[in-house]
Amino acid sequence: MPIEVRLFPCLSDNYGFLVRDTATGDTAAVDTPDGEAVLRELEASGWRLSLILNTHWHPDHTQGNAAVAAATGAQIVGPAEIRRAAPLDREVKGGDEVALGATRFQVLETGGHTLGHISYYDAADRTAFVGDTLFALGCGRLFEGTPAMMWDSLQRLAALPDETTVYCAHEYTASNARFALTLDRSEAVAARAKAVFAARERGEPTVPTTIGAEKATNPFLRAPELVRGDPVEAFAKVRAGKDAFKG
Ligand SMILES: [Zn+2]
Repeated sequence: MPIEVRLFPCLSDNYGFLVRDTATGDTAAVDTPDGEAVLRELEASGWRLSLILNTHWHPDHTQGNAAVAAATGAQIVGPAEIRRAAPLDREVKGGDEVALGATRFQVLETGGHTLGHISYYDAADRTAFVGDTLFALGCGRLFEGTPAMMWDSLQRLAALPDETTVYCAHEYTASNARFALTLDRSEAVAARAKAVFAARERGEPTVPTTIGAEKATNPFLRAPELVRGDPVEAFAKVRAGKDAFKG
């Protein structure tokens, strides 16, 4: 039985997600950028929350944990670093599995944006929740990790099947597309940027994306093809370029 996902905007540019296991009706919230927004979306959906799945400790991913858990009784699952900012019931790390009804999420270590950042991958449904590690045409800033750590994390995600649906946690895609166009003159990037700008003009989300689309057009995954140096050096240069990019 598949999952259903509801994506909803939170704060200025975050996305919240509700994931429902259709076999049992059990539902998870992936991160809690805004507790009130998560509870409103639950009410609108009529779904029953049993889990909160945190990707990393940043407040715009955890600040609703306490309120949502208090209102629903949901168990909070995440990496140990969540405790820096919010309550956590069950600590998980790479290689662990989290059950949501009949659905199984593999925990993938995707550190770099923060040291303990994890992603959740549902292989049966080819769906990944990647927090602030991989974005549509972008990747997370290196607040805590090294370029080598982030490059490894991105490779772990890039190794998932091309058709994997990827839910990233921010709507940064238009800015990412403007940056990608400065590095990559390929037709694939030009066409994707055009589609992204049109979607944003219409007020539509550009999330989810797929692993295949990111491997074809994301300048961070394509860094070794775009910039001189070994893969980690090339990635570090692209990341530094985006950090300085005004657009
Ligand atoms: Zn973050």
